[in-house]
Amino acid sequence: MYAFRNSYRLIASLLLAVLLLTSLAACKKESAATGAPTTPTSQTDKPSADSSKSPSEAGDSPSSDAATGGSSAVPVDTDSDSIAVLVNKQLALPDNYKPDDLVYPNVHFIFDDKIEKRMMRKEAATALEDLFAGAEADGIFLGGVSAFRSQATQTVLFQNYVKKDGEEKAKMYSSVPGHSEHQTGLAIDVSGSTGVCAAEFCFEGTPEAEWLAAHAHEYGYIIRYLKGKEDITGFDYEPWHIRYVGTEMAADIYSRGITLEEYYGAVPVTN
Ligand SMILES: [Zn+2]
Repeated sequence: MYAFRNSYRLIASLLLAVLLLTSLAACKKESAATGAPTTPTSQTDKPSADSSKSPSEAGDSPSSDAATGGSSAVPVDTDSDSIAVLVNKQLALPDNYKPDDLVYPNVHFIFDDKIEKRMMRKEAATALEDLFAGAEADGIFLGGVSAFRSQATQTVLFQNYVKKDGEEKAKMYSSVPGHSEHQTGLAIDVSGSTGVCAAEFCFEGTPEAEWLAAHAHEYGYIIRYLKGKEDITGFDYEPWHIRYVGTEMAADIYSRGITLEEYYGAVPVTN
């Protein structure tokens, strides 16, 4: 009787163990299956940048969708009529977008014609007038080079650049049509009043460039394509290209030394 009871216990505990093991195995399978989709489906060009992050920071790493941004960052503004809109190589404006409040800012341009590229959105134009006046008070005389650019104009420009330099090189300094900040009416290329080195690399280091870098934010503008941030903006350093975002945002971006992409925690743009 005793022996029988013992073997009964043995069988019962064996059964229990088998049950436990199979349910454990099922759990493992399930977690493996649900775990699969959370594995990143796309890699950024710089996976090494994320590897240095602590596990808590890793959760904030950019997703493959530029519009979502990092979880702790400001949500990306993709409203084409917003002064805070992010337009870059990944985020395009609606096809043939044109702002409906374009005006001619009352500032000096390096050309005389009253044409499209002299126009800006009203708020940006007013701020630009203040910026030029502020520069002048500091003995810096600026000149507008190129402001608003329609998608049609950008298309012609870009095609010409591609013919001249090839697509890859052209993309480092010119935007694919629909992706140009100039189409927002919030960006302008600025040079000295004589137009020397207008939108050219020799503008770097000039008193005008230094003044813009130090003061543009006071008027709501940022240097959009920063030096050393080419992997994030996807553009060469352009000390002449300023972008209106409003004084509050510009001051924040300036003081942190970041790009608009970083402000939004958007995906770095690498061509
Ligand atoms: Zn520009």
